[in-house]
Amino acid sequence: VSIIVQKFGGTSVSSASNIKHIVSRVLNEKNKGNQVVVVVSAMGDTTDILTNLAVEVSSNPEKREMDMLLSTGEQVTIALLTLALQEMGADAISLTGGQAGIHTDSVYGNASITSINPERITKELNAGKILVVAGFQGITEKGDISTLGRGGSDTTAAALAARLEAERCDIFTDVDGVYTSDPRLIKNASKISSLTYDDMLDLATRGAGVLHPRAVKHAKIFGIPLVVRSSFSKENGTLITVPTKHSDRENVIGIVFQRGQIALYINGLTSVDRTTLLETLGKRHISNDLYEEEKEEAFIIYKKDYSGVQEVLSEKGKFEGIHYYKKSNLAKLSVIGRNLKTYPVNRKLVSMVLEREGIPFNFIKDSHKSVSVLLKEEDMIRSTELLHIEFSLDADAVRTIKQGVAIH
Ligand code: ADP
Ligand code: ASP
Ligand code: MG
Repeated sequence: VSIIVQKFGGTSVSSASNIKHIVSRVLNEKNKGNQVVVVVSAMGDTTDILTNLAVEVSSNPEKREMDMLLSTGEQVTIALLTLALQEMGADAISLTGGQAGIHTDSVYGNASITSINPERITKELNAGKILVVAGFQGITEKGDISTLGRGGSDTTAAALAARLEAERCDIFTDVDGVYTSDPRLIKNASKISSLTYDDMLDLATRGAGVLHPRAVKHAKIFGIPLVVRSSFSKENGTLITVPTKHSDRENVIGIVFQRGQIALYINGLTSVDRTTLLETLGKRHISNDLYEEEKEEAFIIYKKDYSGVQEVLSEKGKFEGIHYYKKSNLAKLSVIGRNLKTYPVNRKLVSMVLEREGIPFNFIKDSHKSVSVLLKEEDMIRSTELLHIEFSLDADAVRTIKQGVAIH
C-alpha cells in the first residue's frame, strides 16, 4: 500500500463546515486503498489571535511559553477533524507533534525538525487508522513543545512524507496552485503547472508565501512529489518534483516579494566589525541581505528584527564609534529564474522598466539565482505587474502559449 500525506492550511479548516467539507477529500484517498496521514493547521486566524493575546499580557513574551500557547491552535483542529471523520464512520486518531514522534531542536518559535520516530504512526497506520497530526509543532530533547515558524505545517507534512516514504504530499490551500506571483495581489500573475524543487525553493525563499521553504527541502531530499492545490476546487494544482528534460526551457519563472524591510546604513563600521556583526546576527537567527552600490552599503533586515539588531549594535565595547540610520517601509522584489545571473540582460531589463516608470530602486547583492531589488513598499505591486508584462509572465501571455500560438 501507498502512503499519502495531505496537508490542510488555516483557511481550509477555518470553520466547522470547512472541516466537514475536507472529510470527503480524506476519505477519497483512504477509499482508494491508501494509508492516509493528514496534517492540519490552526483554524483560520487562530495563530494571530493567540499571538495578540500574548502581547496583551506581556511586553516581551518568553519564547517557550509562546510555543506552548501557539501549539494549542493545531490541537483544536486535529481533534475536530478526527471527530468529523469518526462521525462519517472512519477509523481515525489524532496525534500531537510529539505523539507523532517529531523531534526538534530547541529554537523556540522557529525550531527545525531533527528526527522523526515513526513508530507510533506506523503502528496506527497498520491498524488501518487515518492519522490526523498537528502541524507546526514538535518536541525538544527536554520534552518541551516547540513550533516550526509561521507556515510550519507545510514542513510537518513534507517531513512526515519524507520519513514515511510517502507516494505524494498534497498541500491543500486557498489558491489552486503556485502562481508566478501572489495571485491575490498581482492581477496578471499566472498559474504554474509544474516546477522543480529548486525553483520552488527559490520562489519560497524570496517570498512566495504559499509554501514554506523548509517543506520543499524535506521533500527534495527524498524526492517526494509535492502538489499544491485548492481545498475548494478540483483543479489540478501545481506539481513540484525532480527536473525533467523540459525543465530548463523557460528562463524567468516568477516575480516575488517580501514587504516589511528596513535598510540600515551604518557609518564607521570596520571590516572586523562587519564580520562580527554578521556572525552575531547569524547566531541570533536574524537574516539579512546587503546592497552595495558605489560607496553606499546597507544591511537589509526585516522590520520585526530591528530591535534585535539595535540591541546587537549597542552591546558594550563592541561597535564603538559607529552611527546608523534606517529607511523603512521597503520591499524586496526578486525576479526568479534559471541561469538569470548568466544573462545580464535580465538585470538590464529590470532597471530599464523601473527607470522608465520613475520607480526608485537599488540592486541587492544576491547569492541566489535571482535578480533582486530593494524598493518602496508602495511601488512593489505596480513594479511586479509591469515586470510580469516585460518578462511575458502575465496571464494573457501564458494563455496565448497554452493555445499554441506562441511557444517560448
Ligand atoms: P495555508 O493557510 O493554506 O497554509 P497560506 O496563506 O500560508 O495558506 O498560503 C496561501 C496563500 O499564499 C495564498 O492565499 C496566496 O495569497 C499566497 N501566495 C503568495 N505567493 C503566492 C504564489 N506565488 N502562488 C500562490 N499563492 C501565493
Ligand atoms: N498555524 C501556523 C501559522 O499560522 C502554522 C501553519 O499554518 O502552517 O503560521
Ligand atoms: Mg501556509
